[in-house]
Amino acid sequence: MINTEEAIAILKNISLLGFEKKPLSDAMGNALAEDILADRDIPPSDRSAMDGYAVRSDDFEKLPCELELVGEIAAGSAFQPQIAKGTCVRIMTGANIPPGADSVVVFEKAQEGERSVFFHLPVKRGENIMRQGEDAKTGETLIAKGTILGPLQIGVCASVGKAGVLVFRKPQVAVLCTGEELRDVHESVETHELRNSNGPALCAALDSFGYDVVESQIIKDSVNDLSREIANAANFSDVILLTGGVSKGKYDFVRSAVEKIGASIVFHGVAMKPGKPLLYAKLERNRHIFGLPGNPLSAMTGFFEFVVPALRVLSGINPNECRPSMFLKLSSKVTTKGGRAHFVQAKLEWGKEGPHVVPLVSHSSADLVCGGRSDGVIAVPPEVREIEPGSLVEFHSWKPL
Ligand code: AMP
Ligand code: MG
Repeated sequence: MINTEEAIAILKNISLLGFEKKPLSDAMGNALAEDILADRDIPPSDRSAMDGYAVRSDDFEKLPCELELVGEIAAGSAFQPQIAKGTCVRIMTGANIPPGADSVVVFEKAQEGERSVFFHLPVKRGENIMRQGEDAKTGETLIAKGTILGPLQIGVCASVGKAGVLVFRKPQVAVLCTGEELRDVHESVETHELRNSNGPALCAALDSFGYDVVESQIIKDSVNDLSREIANAANFSDVILLTGGVSKGKYDFVRSAVEKIGASIVFHGVAMKPGKPLLYAKLERNRHIFGLPGNPLSAMTGFFEFVVPALRVLSGINPNECRPSMFLKLSSKVTTKGGRAHFVQAKLEWGKEGPHVVPLVSHSSADLVCGGRSDGVIAVPPEVREIEPGSLVEFHSWKPL
């Protein structure tokens, strides 16, 4: 058995999958495999920051003053009249500043007459002008390789004309839930049977992180069925997630099935609660198998703590950012038995000072009812047995950060 830090260190070392070109409209959530550079100065020229009049500040030495109005420049207009002494032009936000003008006076600070404009307030030279290149110069890196594309980054790419971007490929994932007792959500259940909750929960979690689920099914507890289905899933997926059948029970065949198809077991057993029997194995050609324990809280904890970081590393995200956590204030005491890492179900409550963490009591790792009330877990290190209210605790969210 290894500890959680050793397990994470192993997963941080996984090689990424490679890259592909994607249309910008499909690239949300992918990590960039190229730097995004400014294709021209930003802004590309001196521009008006407001709607008003482009003027020469040297006309404002004596106030009030009256300047001849020589026309109008709307955003998108190429009209660039020379602004001679004693003249001004109406200008809209985003329009290029015409030659001769050095400031923009907003409409609210002027009175427009028939062919002239009256000004009675002083002007600060350069006011309301965005300078060419003040945000970035041509060739400057705007977004670094490895950054995950979110809405704002997509906007930046669009602004520099990147209709297609080079991104790291995201893993395709298969979800195989093992157990003779499992029934699909649509089926009726006898008292000795259980509805498959891990499958839908994992598919939803994968979807929330932007990973494609290429297969999801229930498999009986048989080495032959398991090895056949794992081998088949490996034909079209990069990562195979199994739940159940991974501990010491008589019908726990996941390890044997994984070995039977020639995968090499990297670890089996992590010093944590819940989720100790976690298994990780590798197949050739950068394919990965995770055996998550069957109990729902164990399966989900193993998924969020270890599978998500591995998926992120595979997708080109900086390994040091593969497991984000927040340090938040604890609202009531947490006690654990210590000795191994504990992941305590918790929910967030939002007060005036921001969120604080409320620990929840789960009866066992099967207690999905408690899981359904939680927003994530408090990660308690093995050497800690008690955490006092008011302390900062490491909170791992079930939602993508
Ligand atoms: P196992 O790890 O296969 O021994 O399963 C541990 C417990 O988790 C058993 O009570 C199983 O019935 C339950 N379990 C296994 N798979 C699932 C699943 N997909 N959904 C809900 N519960 C499950
Ligand atoms: Mg089972």
